[in-house]
Amino acid sequence: MTRIAIIGAGPSGMAQLRAFQSAKAKGQQVPEIVCFEKQNDWGGLWNYTWRTGVDQHGNPVHGSMYRYLWSNGPKEALEFADYTFDEHFKKAIASYPPRAVLWDYIKGRVEKVGVKDQVRFNTTVNNVEFNSDNQQFTVAVHDHYQNQTYAEQFDYVIVASGHFSTPNVPEFKGFNIFNGRILHAHDFRDAVQFKDKNILIVGSSYSAEDVGSQCYKYGAKHIYSCYRSQPMGYKWPKNWSEKQKLLHVDENTAYFADGTCAQVDAIILCTGYLHHFPYMAEDLCLKTHNCLYPEGLYQGVVWEKNPRLFYLGMQDQWYTFNMFDAQAWYVRDLILQQQTLPTQAEMQQHTQQWVQKEQKLKNAEQMIKFQGDYIKKLIAETDYPSFNIDAVNDIFMQWKKHKKENIMGFRDKVYRSVMTGKMAKPHHTSWLYALDDSLESYLDNDNHEPKAM
Ligand code: FAD
Ligand code: NAP
Repeated sequence: MTRIAIIGAGPSGMAQLRAFQSAKAKGQQVPEIVCFEKQNDWGGLWNYTWRTGVDQHGNPVHGSMYRYLWSNGPKEALEFADYTFDEHFKKAIASYPPRAVLWDYIKGRVEKVGVKDQVRFNTTVNNVEFNSDNQQFTVAVHDHYQNQTYAEQFDYVIVASGHFSTPNVPEFKGFNIFNGRILHAHDFRDAVQFKDKNILIVGSSYSAEDVGSQCYKYGAKHIYSCYRSQPMGYKWPKNWSEKQKLLHVDENTAYFADGTCAQVDAIILCTGYLHHFPYMAEDLCLKTHNCLYPEGLYQGVVWEKNPRLFYLGMQDQWYTFNMFDAQAWYVRDLILQQQTLPTQAEMQQHTQQWVQKEQKLKNAEQMIKFQGDYIKKLIAETDYPSFNIDAVNDIFMQWKKHKKENIMGFRDKVYRSVMTGKMAKPHHTSWLYALDDSLESYLDNDNHEPKAM
C-alpha cells in the first residue's frame, strides 16, 4: 500500500489529516498515513509550553507562543470553510480569541472526524532521505515513549514542521557585557516578569508589536522599540518610544542610530525566525526566508526537484488556517492522482512568475491580495469549499485600519463571518483589561458585565 509520512501535527499537518479524511469519507481509496509529532499533543505552536531552550528529551523547544497571546488577526480571516467557529462553539464569540480558544477550535475539527490515531506523538523525525532505486523515502525517527530509534519507508513525505520556531538571533556590540536579560521572542513566555522594567524590543514586525504590547498591558515601566528598516508607526502609549536602529549597548544602556540612548533592564529580540529543517537530506532541504512565495516550491507546496515531497505552510502568513487547508487539499489530490503536474521546467517557470510578482508588491494591501490570489487558485483546483476570498481580503484591510486607529484597542472590534454571514459578538472585556486569557473566561460572555470598551 502507498504510504505517506506527514512531519508535524500543527495546523498544517492537521489540515493534511483532515484533507485525506474528507476524501475517505467520500468513498475514495486513501493511502496509509503516518504523522510524526515530536510534542505530546497536536496543535503545533498553539499547544502552549512553558519550556524554553530544550524540551524534556533534549530537543529544541518548538513553542514560540506565550501566556496571554491573543490572535493578532480577526478569526474571520482564518476560519475553516468546512468547520466554522459557530459550529465549534455553538454560539457567537468575539473576533480576536486568545490562544487557548483557537487551539480548541483547530482541535475540534479533527477530533470530530477521528484522525488522532494516525499521529505518533512524542516522535521526532531525525532524518529523511530519498532512495532513487526504489523511489522511496527513508524516514528515521526517535520514539521518546520507548526511547527507541527506527526507520520506515514512505512513498511521499509532507513536511509540516512550521517555520516560526528556530529564532534568528543577531548579535549587537556590547551584548556580552550587558547586565540585564537578553532573550529572543521565541523564549518570551510571560509579560508579567517585565512589570516595572524598562525594556528594549528589537524589530518592527508582529512579534515586536505584540510582545511590546503585552509588556505594556502587564505593567512595564517604559518600552523602547527600535527598527532596522521601517518603523511600526502606530500611535503608541506615552511610555512607548519607537527608536531608529540599535547600534550597540553597554552594561545598562542601548544606543540608537539617531544619537539617542536609553537605560534598559532587558532586551527582547523580536528579530524573526529561520526556516530550519535539520532532518532533511541536503537535496530535499528547503532553503528560504519569510516570504510569500518561496522559490523551489511549485504552487507553494511541491518540491520541484522531487514532486513526491511537499512542504506545507512555508509562506509568510497573512492567511493561515484556511491557506493551509487549500494547500493540504491540493497536495492530497496530487497524491491521489486527481491532479497532474507539468514538467519540472514548467513548474520552475511558473514559480518564477509568482516570485517576480511578489518582488513588485509595494504595500500590505497588495501582499494580502497576492496571497488571496494564490489561495483562490489552489481552491479552484480542489473540492475544498469555495469561499469569498475578496471578502476576507477586505477584512484584512479593515483590520489594518483598526490597528492604525488604535493599536491597543483593535482587538475589541468585531467582524462578519464570510463563511456564515453572521456578526461576531463583542467580548465582555476590552483586550487591554482582559488579563485572564483562559478559554473559560473568554467563553463566559453571559456572566460578565462589559467593561472599558
Ligand atoms: P507549527 O504550528 O509550527 O507546527 C509544526 C509542528 O511540527 C509542531 O507541532 C512541531 O512540534 C512539529 N515538528 C517540528 N519539527 C518536528 C520534527 N523534527 N519531528 C516531528 N515533529 C516536528 N497565526 C494566526 O493565524 N494567528 C495568530 O494570532 C498567530 N500568532 C502567532 C504567534 C506567534 C508567536 C507565532 C510564532 C506564530 C503565530 N501565528 C499566528 C502563525 C503560525 O505560524 C500559524 O498559526 C500556525 O501555527 C502554523 O502551523 P504549522 O502547522 O505550519 O506550524
Ligand atoms: P518577522 O515578521 O519575520 O519580522 C522579523 C523582524 O525582525 C523584522 O522587523 C526585521 O526587520 C527584524 N530583524 C531581523 N533581523 C534583524 C536584525 N539583525 N536587526 C534588527 N532587526 C532585525 O517575524 P515576527 O515578527 O517574529 O513574526 C513571525 C510570525 O509570528 C508572524 O506570522 C506573526 O503574525 C506571528 N506573531 C503573532 C503574534 C500574535 O499576536 N498572535 C505575536 C507575535 C508573532 P526588517 O524589516 O528590517 O527585516
